[in-house]
Amino acid sequence: MAVDVLTRCRDLLAGVTPMETDCGLLCGAACCSSLPGEETGMLLFPGEEALAPLPAGWRILDTQAGKLLVCDSRCDRRNRPLSCRLFPLLPLIRGDAIKVAVDARARAVCPMAAAGTKGCSQRFVDAVRQCGQWLREDSEQRDFLLNLTRAHDALRDLQRAFGGG
Ligand code: SF4
Ligand code: SF4
Repeated sequence: MAVDVLTRCRDLLAGVTPMETDCGLLCGAACCSSLPGEETGMLLFPGEEALAPLPAGWRILDTQAGKLLVCDSRCDRRNRPLSCRLFPLLPLIRGDAIKVAVDARARAVCPMAAAGTKGCSQRFVDAVRQCGQWLREDSEQRDFLLNLTRAHDALRDLQRAFGGG
């Protein structure tokens, strides 16, 4: 069940992207690049590692937050994890509702982040909300999304405390 939900979300976002044009051209695909000497990655949703073969050179690390996919900054769209498909937005769990917001982690890297959700196409915002609703219906995915929501809120509080808007 947890994996079925992920497949639905990944399929929905396979054809809907933040902008109608390739937003990676704006920034040289900044969200796919690691700084020299730094190893960054995207968190996999529960069970997601079973959905696509791991391309050569990619690794999955076990972290406190969950399984972290470390890629080589290039990918076939079919292998792209859900976190990458949702970026730069995140569906947050707010009680019984889903609120779509700019992912706090996007503020440091994504040129679209300053514009808020209005910087993305309405189709993309709606698709991210739909994914949040589907994820919330599955207990394992809901728990994971709740943890992401808490981490997002903590990072936003820090950003605001340091004048980050
Ligand atoms: S950083 Fe933002 S604008 Fe650039 S590719 Fe990623 S989502 Fe698109
Ligand atoms: S998996 Fe693909 S979309 Fe995600 S960070 Fe790596 S290259 Fe970018």
